[in-house]
Amino acid sequence: MAAWENNVRKVVPYTPGEQPKESGIIKLNTNENPYPPSPAVKAAYDAFDNAEMRLYPAPDASELVDAIAETYGVNSSQVFVGVGSDDVISMAFMTFFGSEKPVLFPDITYSFYDVWAEVYGIPYVQVPLKKGFRIDPGDYVRPNGGIIFPNPNAPTGVLESTDMIETVIAENPDSVVIIDEAYIDFAGKGKSVLPLLSKYENLLVVQTFSKSRSMAGMRIGFAIGSEKLIKYMNDVKFSVNSYTMNRVTIKCGAAAVRDTEYFESTVAKIVKTRENAKKELAARGFTFPDSQSNFIFASPTKLPAGKVFEELKKRKIYVRYWDKPVIRDHLRITIGTDDEMNALFKALDEIFKEA
Ligand SMILES: *Cc1c(COP(=O)(O)O)cnc(C)c1O
Repeated sequence: MAAWENNVRKVVPYTPGEQPKESGIIKLNTNENPYPPSPAVKAAYDAFDNAEMRLYPAPDASELVDAIAETYGVNSSQVFVGVGSDDVISMAFMTFFGSEKPVLFPDITYSFYDVWAEVYGIPYVQVPLKKGFRIDPGDYVRPNGGIIFPNPNAPTGVLESTDMIETVIAENPDSVVIIDEAYIDFAGKGKSVLPLLSKYENLLVVQTFSKSRSMAGMRIGFAIGSEKLIKYMNDVKFSVNSYTMNRVTIKCGAAAVRDTEYFESTVAKIVKTRENAKKELAARGFTFPDSQSNFIFASPTKLPAGKVFEELKKRKIYVRYWDKPVIRDHLRITIGTDDEMNALFKALDEIFKEA
């Protein structure tokens, strides 16, 4: 090792799901939305004047921030936007998790949290989930430097109640509690913890346009919290990179969030396909916790999960598989269109018949 390498910040990076270059793939591995974004996004994109590219974007991305604030009924000063919720959560780690005490999150959860903690040198403890992949609020009543978990959790799809989450927040007035609601739109109306914002200054709710709004490729995420929290996040953001959101993204994002009707109709389609997929997978011997997201974390009982993963891949159907303790018996299957799901069921029948 060269001497200068001693001064390198060494990290084990997060591994995103595969984005195959090949065509004809049925892609059920990264929780993307199978439907295109709202037609209003296409209109905003087409109307974009590329002469504008020579100018820096608005550093506060106000057009997008205001559209989100209006849609969610909060003040613009309570909204922070970033390059996907990965950027938003990363900024939140940098901003809020400066304690010597460990940040707490579940041991089965979004596998980016420990990577951010490592890269920023934040101490952390991963708390084992209880039976059925449930979070026990009692596990979060101990000295900590912050708390984060997704609801519904990833990759399990399990939704926790607002009451349970309120218990965690109420027990932790000395920490910032971040609820990562990447999949909340698939859980039905009224499941978000956004209403708790009126009671708790230390709650940050993070959402994304990548899943329910079909815009993973545009990279838009946002956080809603108290004015104080958002101010602290912006101070850090403006100390790293002022212009995170580009002009095209700001326009397209604002158009997307204003089209509630389209959003609700595509989410409803995915939920319907998911409910049917639960029946179809159960009929093929899969077991899974009840999913309230746009994926199902399913364990095949007839063959090892790793084998099913490989066999599906041979048939050009990609799902996500982690060869890791506790979860190596499961596949995370994203909900696609009805046609894509039918192709999956057919492939599974073939795989199980040959076995
Ligand atoms: C997909 C996902 C994100 C990040 O999505 P972005 O594309 O960066 O907005 C964050 N948290 C969880 C739990 C996710 O599944």
